[in-house]
Amino acid sequence: MNILSMQENNYLTELLRDRKLKVTSKRLEVLGVIKEHSSAISYSALQTSLHDFDRVTLYRTIHSLIENGIIHKALTEENETFYALCSTTCTSASHIHKHIHFKCVECNGVTCVESVHPIQLSIVGYSIENVEIEARGSCAACKN
Ligand SMILES: [Zn+2]
Ligand SMILES: [Zn+2]
Ligand SMILES: [Zn+2]
Repeated sequence: MNILSMQENNYLTELLRDRKLKVTSKRLEVLGVIKEHSSAISYSALQTSLHDFDRVTLYRTIHSLIENGIIHKALTEENETFYALCSTTCTSASHIHKHIHFKCVECNGVTCVESVHPIQLSIVGYSIENVEIEARGSCAACKN
């Protein structure tokens, strides 16, 4: 059972309202677990933390949070998807990301990281809103 602090609860309630989603206990619960995690969280870890969710409810809750610019899929592998909270650049209308999804091959952790040099891609005649880059290697903790 996940118990949110009052402060945490207020923050997540505001976030849902800001992105035009109805505040429900299910959404708060899912967001609470994702936020608690310092890195991206896998679907199976999310499922383990939320005992009172059936598959459909969890799927729908995740879907609505993605649709409204609150969380995003950080990385998808064969049997696992990782989710992370969005920053304030995302809105209920669109996701705007320009960061890297880093998968550590040693601890298997997935994190959203900013590139040291801003990522700049341009294609003649196209406008780019969202860039998805996946990188693999050793994270800062495992490197040492
Ligand atoms: Zn986003
Ligand atoms: Zn690592
Ligand atoms: Zn990310």
